[in-house]
Amino acid sequence: MRENRINTKYIKVNPEFPEAGPLEEGGRVLRRGGLVAFPTETVYGLGANVLDGRAVAKIFEAKGRPPDNPLIVHVAGREALDGLVKGIPRAAEELMDAFWPGPLTIILQACEKVPSRVTAGLDTVAVRMPSHPVALGLIRAAGVPVAAPSANTSGRPSPTNARHVLNDLDGRIDIVLDGGPAGVGVESTVLDLAGPEPLVLRPGGITPEELKKILGAVGVDPAVRPGFKGEGGPRSPGMKYTHYAPRARLLVVEGGEEAVAAKIVDLAGKYRAEGRRVGILSYRDSMDFSPVGEVVPAGCRANPETVAAELYAALRRFDEMGVDLILAEGVEDRGVGMAVMDRLRKAAGGRIIYV
Ligand code: AMP
Ligand code: MG
Repeated sequence: MRENRINTKYIKVNPEFPEAGPLEEGGRVLRRGGLVAFPTETVYGLGANVLDGRAVAKIFEAKGRPPDNPLIVHVAGREALDGLVKGIPRAAEELMDAFWPGPLTIILQACEKVPSRVTAGLDTVAVRMPSHPVALGLIRAAGVPVAAPSANTSGRPSPTNARHVLNDLDGRIDIVLDGGPAGVGVESTVLDLAGPEPLVLRPGGITPEELKKILGAVGVDPAVRPGFKGEGGPRSPGMKYTHYAPRARLLVVEGGEEAVAAKIVDLAGKYRAEGRRVGILSYRDSMDFSPVGEVVPAGCRANPETVAAELYAALRRFDEMGVDLILAEGVEDRGVGMAVMDRLRKAAGGRIIYV
């Protein structure tokens, strides 16, 4: 298995004013059908030339990604959407004015020439213009649209720095551009504009509250709600997989702050008595759990942006520590906290305790 290792080239690049050399080298490799990992303002992406079906296939192979999970097409400007989407509805234009470049992915009707490997055979395509200077510079240098899922092994927490990328994909990709930590820390918001009403399929960097200001009304796919067991599954194929998960079993505890803390202390005591190593995912403004477990804080709960920025690194940290079980404090399900809770619940594979 995986005997076809290649030499992954590591290149440091200035995140604000990226040097032309690395961008051109990355662009050349993309154009020739290679894989390049690069920072975006959400998480690190693993890019391939959209128009090269074999290059796109390599993404699925390197990540071990299920083939029915479509990719987001990244562009450096709106003009690049010609030939990718059938038309840009008024609402999409307005959203692009407001949020592009930035962490908003829009689903539109796809042109026939978009390879079905990218769309997983759907008649729609997901498009986004990232704001990270390295991402933009690389896409411009490539001169082609770039398909890019997160640069991790499928199912693992998304990478928010180049070390995470190498931990998962060293030897399987051509280049990683290291532009320091990604910004937002959770993936883009996926908004479906190809259906009867605008619908958030995946919460992310842009909140439903922000979208409402432009669209007036916006729905949220019921499949995003905790404990969803409805008919048909989510409309975003990728949302059905256990995702973002560390190796240790994760349990999320949700409810009032004090009740959650009491439950965590209680559970940690029980599991430790069974001889297990217990990790606790909490926040800098939470109570001190260090007497009952090995604590990794992810930002401050009062400021959900900081939680989003540190969440995946914290989940990966538990793997490095080698804990057997992680107890995670829930945060408020509002603003970007909605994306945080979505990822935590998925990482827990539905193991949620309400108190
Ligand atoms: P990732 O690139 O791993 O962050 O995942 C991209 C997300 O966008 C996944 O949840 C996909 O299922 C979703 N997605 C991409 N294209 C489409 C599409 N045409 N329709 C619905 N969801 C999509
Ligand atoms: Mg991903």
